[in-house]
Amino acid sequence: MPLLIGSHLSVAGGCHRAAEEAGQLGMKALQIFTKNNNQWAGKPISEADRASFLAAASKNKLTQPISHASYLINLASPKPELWQKSVDSMVDEIRRAAYLNLAGVVMHPGSPTDGDREAGLDRIAKGIDAIFQSISSDGQSVEVKLLLENTAGQGNALGWQIADLTEIFRRSEASDSLGICIDSCHSHAAGYDLTCESGLDRLIDELSVDSLLGRVVAIHLNDSKKPAGSRVDRHEHLGLGHLTLDGIARFINHPAFRSLPMILETEKGENDDGVSWDVVNMDVAKGLYNS
Ligand SMILES: [Zn+2]
Repeated sequence: MPLLIGSHLSVAGGCHRAAEEAGQLGMKALQIFTKNNNQWAGKPISEADRASFLAAASKNKLTQPISHASYLINLASPKPELWQKSVDSMVDEIRRAAYLNLAGVVMHPGSPTDGDREAGLDRIAKGIDAIFQSISSDGQSVEVKLLLENTAGQGNALGWQIADLTEIFRRSEASDSLGICIDSCHSHAAGYDLTCESGLDRLIDELSVDSLLGRVVAIHLNDSKKPAGSRVDRHEHLGLGHLTLDGIARFINHPAFRSLPMILETEKGENDDGVSWDVVNMDVAKGLYNS
């Protein structure tokens, strides 16, 4: 099967613009923000925008398009006001995603700014329960999954150890509505050294606890500007960072990952030859993929 690769694209001019651009660039996967990622509220998605988005996604055969939640959301926050705002905002994000028939909304698990991991994990699980209680309270069933993304582990951010994700699944009553998004840059920066087989093996082994591996439904495919274990989140173009081409090849060809939609979150713009970086990165990935 072909590599289902795409990237995070801008929705300037409407959500449909991203789905159309994905087609123009030959993408098979897509991630968007359904609203400004640095704001709590977004204006409603118009019916016309929705219709054009669905038509373009279908025409371009985009596999399980997803969105990424606002960076302001922090379900691990010890501040009740911020926690509640995060819950309300995720409810809105999931509703918007459902309106566009997206498969999931990627969310960083959260950062307990008081440094208390245990309490932070509890607050995340309670937040997830509150989100899905709110969504089901209006009688609508929603297929959209909330996708917990593993992180690089900057500051107090949870989710850099796969065990954090396992705990959230265990503690949440709405775990059926959860999925996982694995980011290659974050994995490497968090200490799962993808340049060697043992690093990828450890990632897979830890994901196999409680069978979470089967809940991984999307991949963020990024190289890392920072070395393994740095706990610093800086994305790099494929093959130009610390993952190395070997490491990227091993990652994208792993049986657990190779058939999943893979999203580039690397810098936009063009290389010295005037070729879009998204196209350059997609070509690198396709070249490494054993089809
Ligand atoms: Zn990511």
